[in-house]
Amino acid sequence: MTKMKAVEVGQPGGPLQLVEREVPEPETGQVLIKVRACGICHSDVFTKEGLWPGLEFPRVPGHEIAGIIEAAGSGVKEWSPGQRVGVGWHGGHCGRCEPCRRGDFILCQRLRVPGISYDGGYAEYMVAPVEALARIPDDLSDVEAAPLLCAGITTFNALRHSGAGPGEVVAILGIGGLGHLGVQFAARMGFAVVAIARGKDKEALAKKLGARHYIDSRAQNVAEALMALGGAKVILATVTSGQAMSAALGGLGADGKLILVGVSEEPVEVPIAPFIMRRNSVQGWPSGTSADSQDTLAFSALTGIRPMIEEFPLERAAEAYDRMLSGAARFRVVLKTH
Ligand SMILES: [Zn+2]
Ligand SMILES: [Zn+2]
Repeated sequence: MTKMKAVEVGQPGGPLQLVEREVPEPETGQVLIKVRACGICHSDVFTKEGLWPGLEFPRVPGHEIAGIIEAAGSGVKEWSPGQRVGVGWHGGHCGRCEPCRRGDFILCQRLRVPGISYDGGYAEYMVAPVEALARIPDDLSDVEAAPLLCAGITTFNALRHSGAGPGEVVAILGIGGLGHLGVQFAARMGFAVVAIARGKDKEALAKKLGARHYIDSRAQNVAEALMALGGAKVILATVTSGQAMSAALGGLGADGKLILVGVSEEPVEVPIAPFIMRRNSVQGWPSGTSADSQDTLAFSALTGIRPMIEEFPLERAAEAYDRMLSGAARFRVVLKTH
């Protein structure tokens, strides 16, 4: 058996430990992936702290995986060794539950997530079912592709299904790991992009990424500033503060929608009368399937969108994870595994 390096969590709340493991073998309908890069996502906290129901330990985290197919299990006809592939949050679905029967795989009641349901990308190799694979275009490097498989797809897919049309005002609330990609996607989709963040620090960057306007939420009333721009058709909330989301709601124009992709434990407080009068709504958006990931990668290659990343070798995963948690990273932390 060939050995590989992997970084695992031994028990809930335990440290990320570099270990030696056997390279796994792909079973029927699976491929073995040589991992080239894996992004570190805030949702890796679920694995690290054991916060996901039914999580088994030890577990290798990681659901922003970019690599190359090393071997295919039996029955795999559509994919072959040598192909560059990515795996994101959608790590497989059951095909039998009610949402699956209706073709809505991301809502699968038995959705499998790499790094949670099975070992993920903080390793030199991993296995994944073929339904979880997305092709990576040649124009994207592995470290560039990795964050697009969670932070990227989440913002891209939410925006393209938001109902906003070319030229309409779309606000990106929060300019961080998700938001710096959201601004780029929204600009390339032809929206009039408003970036909203605390302080002046991120204004120049947000405008460079494609924002037409910048609102400093420390100095300005966000809702009033959005209304001065005609009101937002969409506010994509990438922040992790229900309070910041609530404060922006008054900036929705006619048929405006707040889309939740950042996770907060605080509720969003909806002002009822204005919501009725302007036919406003609040909607959550759960990333997307492997096909949506493939679209995200293709659109990024087509339009020149790239994540801003900090790279760490696999061996320094614990340090890289802390860097992500600190919130100081600009903007996504990526492990280079090969
Ligand atoms: Zn993620
Ligand atoms: Zn299902």
